[in-house]
Amino acid sequence: MTGDGSCHWGALVPLDFLKRRSGAGAAAAAAPSAPGQTLSSALPEEVIAHEYQLKLYYAGKSSEGVRMTAGPNAMAELPSMLVGLAKSEIEVVEPLPIEFSQATPVIARPSEAMQWLNAHHVHSPVTRHALVVLESIDAIDLAFDTFVCALLDGEVDTSGYPEYNAIVGGVASHWDEATGDMIVRSVVGWGGRGVRGDSDRNGSRILSGLLTNVLASQYSMGLTAVERPVPAAGRGGVVCAHCGFASAHERAFYCPKCGMRLLRG
Ligand SMILES: [Zn+2]
Repeated sequence: MTGDGSCHWGALVPLDFLKRRSGAGAAAAAAPSAPGQTLSSALPEEVIAHEYQLKLYYAGKSSEGVRMTAGPNAMAELPSMLVGLAKSEIEVVEPLPIEFSQATPVIARPSEAMQWLNAHHVHSPVTRHALVVLESIDAIDLAFDTFVCALLDGEVDTSGYPEYNAIVGGVASHWDEATGDMIVRSVVGWGGRGVRGDSDRNGSRILSGLLTNVLASQYSMGLTAVERPVPAAGRGGVVCAHCGFASAHERAFYCPKCGMRLLRG
């Protein structure tokens, strides 16, 4: 049926007419088509294109790190650093173990997307939105970061997902590869189908509010310039002798989850 249709259609295309048109331009376009010719079979002078477009805009900010004493004990302090700023439940997202090392919030990559969903479907819509934004712009990396998150400004829709101008985030912590100290930084993000002019300013204000809370912690030793660890692809999988966590982060000397020194074989 389709084959017949295509052949029939092909036979109707006036090849010599097309040739004349391409050579003579507008004048040729005025030439009458053969009787019984359907108008749709002739290439129009100007192709009318129906345009489709989606502009996604994600943005975020991260502060400098604050070095903390007391190692893993400071971990329990993280959620309290959002108190006074959180406008939703405060959630803790732990570093991802090795089986989720490819997790990526990109639906066109089903294997990576499936890992991501399996790792994060338990979280709230606010946290999932924050993870999509902040992972997409590389502001956090769950290979080594612990991320504590809430809605910080703006509204959620009827399904509980933040609007494009809502600001989400909180604090992210990792273990300094050189010293094993916990490093905490404040992180905020926003975005979606649209952008509003005051989001950047609001983001900065909230970022500094969070950093004030981090510095006010009893474990804070002050701001520190520490590079985020760079995870290398491929390896990982060192199992923590203390908590059993299998790290996906191949450079980790300290367990991303409990902060204890990893033993390498
Ligand atoms: Zn551990």
